[in-house]
Amino acid sequence: MIPLHGKVIPLKGQGVDIGVIKISRDPNAHPVLAADCAFISNGQLPASKFKIVIAQSNVNPRDINGGVDLQLPFELDHLSEGDVVSIRSDNRLRVLFRKKSHQNSILLTERCNHYCLMCSQPPKDVDDSYLMAETKELIKLIPEDTIEIGFTGGEPTLYGDEFIALMQLVKNYLPNTAIHILSNGRAFSDIDFARKYAAIGHKDMMLGIPLYSDDPDQHNYIVQSENAFNETVKGILNLKSLNQLVEIRVVLHKQNITRLTKLCEFIARNLLFVDHVALMGLEIIGFTRANFDQLWIDPYDYKDILSEAVHILTSYGMNVSVYNSQLCLVNADVLPCYRKSISDWKNEYAPECVGCTKLSECGGFFASGIQHGYSKHLKPFIS
Ligand code: SF4
Repeated sequence: MIPLHGKVIPLKGQGVDIGVIKISRDPNAHPVLAADCAFISNGQLPASKFKIVIAQSNVNPRDINGGVDLQLPFELDHLSEGDVVSIRSDNRLRVLFRKKSHQNSILLTERCNHYCLMCSQPPKDVDDSYLMAETKELIKLIPEDTIEIGFTGGEPTLYGDEFIALMQLVKNYLPNTAIHILSNGRAFSDIDFARKYAAIGHKDMMLGIPLYSDDPDQHNYIVQSENAFNETVKGILNLKSLNQLVEIRVVLHKQNITRLTKLCEFIARNLLFVDHVALMGLEIIGFTRANFDQLWIDPYDYKDILSEAVHILTSYGMNVSVYNSQLCLVNADVLPCYRKSISDWKNEYAPECVGCTKLSECGGFFASGIQHGYSKHLKPFIS
């Protein structure tokens, strides 16, 4: 697990509101670049004049002649050249972008019009528009050759036209980056909004939209919102009529597993034209912990259902991936669709995995799963 936030220690009085800033570890960075960067010192003072100098946790600031503004907590010593962070006057540092990672996900809001039983980011009815403001700064600091980047919430489309404007900014600064946006899709049931989104014209921008059941009542129950199913399906239809990339995401749990094959038949017959279907294991975090007994089912107990679901979708020629699952808990017929998907910063393995010969191919677990519950049927590979 790689920590993505912590408290820095101010060394020159009160904390300062630095905002969004790029990290550099190059003491000889070009002065024009250095002026807008935070330099992380491992003991040396930089030759260039940086906006701010931050000492690693193991550095004694006195050893570098008082030229240091802040000190990192040890859990943030991993910060690297090209990373982007936000530092606020309460001394809270949040890592917004890690250059070495291909799994950067940018939180746009914690507000949502769903209240899903298994929400990993429980909604908060707060003004968190600072997240949007920070993201606008962040986009300008992300390297243009970044391969992919994700946007998540909450529900990003609650920003309305400001969301559209943000994605236009993304297109301008990152025209060659694969963009993935998590949304419940309901906003796109408004064809005018869908048209505005389509007009952005980014060549590789996909919406990941959850659909949890073919039964509208069951989907609406899982997301705790009336009329959600109808609006989500209409949103998907509108987006595809405008040639937009759409992925359907299905989180697998006790509430929907018995209808999973029916849902896959519904998708194959009615939404065959979507670009990708992701069948996803449960992350035991957020509301899932509170609703654990309602949601948890051992993946070992549904592996045959998963095989059948994959078979239905692939036999219709659909592009399918199985995410967030463990190699020893899926049948061999699922392997062509099996993906290592858990973001590097929260990916761990169980004690039982030690010595497993397929550990490097296995997606492993969310760190929260190791803490709060995982299958009792792990079977390490021995050759
Ligand atoms: S035992 Fe091996 S296959 Fe099973 S979860 Fe651990 S690493 Fe993956």
